[in-house]
Amino acid sequence: GKTIMWFRKDLRLDDNTAFNKMLEESKESDELICIFHLNPLQFLENSYNHNAFFYSVSTFYKQAKANNVTIHFVYGNVEESFTALKRAFQDWDAIYFNKDERGFGSVRDQKMTVFFEDNQIQVHSYQDSHLHGVEEIKKPTGESYKVFTPYFRKWLAMPKRPYQRTMKIDKQFEKITHPLFTEGEKQFGQLVEKIVFPFEYECGEAVAEQYLKEFIKTHLHDYQKGRDYPFLDQTSKLSRFLRTGELSIRKVWYALNAEPVSDGRQTFISELCWRDFYNMIYYENPKQKTQEIKEQYRQLQWSYNQELFEQWKNGETGFPIIDAGMRQLAQTGWMHNRLRMIVASFLTKDLMIDWRMGEEYFQKKLIDYDSASNIGGWQWAASTGTDAVPYFRIFNPTTQSEKFDHYGDFIRQFIPELKNVPNKYIHEPGKMPMEFQKSINLVIGEDYPNPIVDHSKIRSEILTFFKKTT
Ligand code: FAD
Repeated sequence: GKTIMWFRKDLRLDDNTAFNKMLEESKESDELICIFHLNPLQFLENSYNHNAFFYSVSTFYKQAKANNVTIHFVYGNVEESFTALKRAFQDWDAIYFNKDERGFGSVRDQKMTVFFEDNQIQVHSYQDSHLHGVEEIKKPTGESYKVFTPYFRKWLAMPKRPYQRTMKIDKQFEKITHPLFTEGEKQFGQLVEKIVFPFEYECGEAVAEQYLKEFIKTHLHDYQKGRDYPFLDQTSKLSRFLRTGELSIRKVWYALNAEPVSDGRQTFISELCWRDFYNMIYYENPKQKTQEIKEQYRQLQWSYNQELFEQWKNGETGFPIIDAGMRQLAQTGWMHNRLRMIVASFLTKDLMIDWRMGEEYFQKKLIDYDSASNIGGWQWAASTGTDAVPYFRIFNPTTQSEKFDHYGDFIRQFIPELKNVPNKYIHEPGKMPMEFQKSINLVIGEDYPNPIVDHSKIRSEILTFFKKTT
């Protein structure tokens, strides 16, 4: 009969659990078909996230083809698409895929598993995307963890699955002609045609591997020292390859373990654990995209001030470090982790704007958007999540700036207006005497905004804001 491999956030042939299993388990007589399902519900307009993801799909399509694997596209509502597929291929009797354990994808996978079973299609699904799946790390009592550190301790002690290079692909993956696939290909073609990036962008398995190697060679061992300084640009930038599956997480693990022990390596490993942790947290709190995890904070009266929100989005808050971070996001589709923390704290604490608005804006812009990590990061900053920053520990944007961009190198890179501001004033350019402002042709309030809030007053306001609910 026919066997289908359903690709989704696992855009690689190497060490792909479901794909490997299919190759291993299929018989000579089985006809193997690879598909990618395009769900119009998941299309986002003008979004780097969307463009980056589908550009990766398009790159994968080409690279798979070069390895004699044809990917067929199916377009439309999930259930209707698979019903049509079953009608078209009566002898289709098995499906392989790497499952999504949380969010939209997990709901889809559960629904479709029932559908496949009802239609006598054998389901072979696997956890492939994380070092440990959502049910693997539990307290001795069987409960799930809510705090990172004990989770990390347990996670470290657990054996990890090995990296498994894909065997030689000697099966047939020829192109199949069918109106469903023709339509899918047409829709995909139209989608790809519209993809544009205002920045340089390359992707694919080989590029991902290059990033991994380069990072290990040049930055891994001082990762711990440099990771918090945006101007050093010392982090791995692997996030986008992990979210598309262009890079196998087991390949990363295997490469790290071939390296000598160092503080850098250990810290990097803990970051990979955060990825698993937030994945598990989303599974445990399926409503977290719209609802605060901590029940006592569900009644907070967030602000919806559009004007302030726009200033934040556009990098026009008058706080250089915030503006530089927001402009990095708008210009490159990526933002350094330290800045994500600072700008998220600023939106939710200084502006008291609903964290959901920030989460949604990041969803649109980030080329590494991952729902579990993004929502986790936002609820952490808003103090509403698990193991979040307590509401009374408020990031001071100026102090953060002095600490993590001391000489203003990063600020000047993204805010050219401030390039002539001396170090002394770079974190608070409004403090430059007017005479001096004029002498460098930069009038604060005209050429660069004055701060849109008075941070010194925020603390007491936030304490009142949160206390109302406790
Ligand atoms: P590195 O420092 O090189 O870290 C290596 C890998 O570890 C990352 O690629 C990532 O997979 C993982 N990792 C690191 N930090 C975290 C973290 N805090 N949580 C979960 N995983 C982590 N990460 C995303 O992948 N997608 C998102 O949409 C996302 N949104 C975020 C939103 C906010 C408000 C915050 C505070 C953090 C968010 N993060 C997100 C986490 C983190 O900022 C990024 O993973 C990191 O900046 C990616 O760059 P890198 O690959 O160079 O990271």
